[in-house]
Amino acid sequence: MRKKLVIGNWKLHGSLLENQGLLNRLKQELHHLEGVDAAVCLPYVYLYQAQSALQGSAIAWGAQNVSQFTEGAYTSCISAKMVAEFGCTYTIVGHSERRALKLESNQVATKRLLNALHAGLTPIFCVGETLDERDGGMAELIVRNQMLNVVYGLDDAAFALAKKLNMVIAYEPVWAIGTGEHATPEQAQRMHAFIRMMIAERDREFSEQIRILYGGSMAPKNAESLLIMPDIDGGLLGRAALVAEDFIDTCRIAA
Ligand code: PEP
Repeated sequence: MRKKLVIGNWKLHGSLLENQGLLNRLKQELHHLEGVDAAVCLPYVYLYQAQSALQGSAIAWGAQNVSQFTEGAYTSCISAKMVAEFGCTYTIVGHSERRALKLESNQVATKRLLNALHAGLTPIFCVGETLDERDGGMAELIVRNQMLNVVYGLDDAAFALAKKLNMVIAYEPVWAIGTGEHATPEQAQRMHAFIRMMIAERDREFSEQIRILYGGSMAPKNAESLLIMPDIDGGLLGRAALVAEDFIDTCRIAA
């Protein structure tokens, strides 16, 4: 039985003042919630604030990306090791908004994933197809390509680390992100089962253990129908993560 996981991706939102209000609300309201793991992924500059506010609480925190480099002359890059110093549990990797900016090919996303693992962070590896790709009948092929490096590209030591750190996969159809239009529970379930099957090709035990989140306009009004599906182990929330009630209600539904 996999415990559900709900993660908020704050993207490029927030201020010290706004964050404090939101973090305090989440901390208060989710204090007694059992049966679900919750976390927020904030902009780098607010990780210290999250650490100060959430330390000792039931809510974990993380970054939205880490560099493919570990150290050196890479102006503006932030390494996984740096992020880990702020007590992060998670980091998102391969989000479609990064892939769309052409900064993150599958190869680069895999490097970031490896750096996250070596720094002791749990990566949330995002995959998902565009609308054109879905309409062209290529959704599974695209997701398979995005998953290939993760399933077959990691050597045994890295794969063992991914297993130990409970790597997370987030299926986020690009057409559903920020659009208000979510995948149907059946569409999402089919892709989640497909992803799990791919992982089983390498390691059956891990395929049963790994949490596969759905992301793309998830909100309290559709969370139940999605989370009830057998291979949907939680959600990665964008817009709904910025409204305390929506994030809290989604966590309650997941629990
Ligand atoms: C996201 O960007 O990861 C996301 C799921 O956004 P939204 O919930 O706003 O669709």
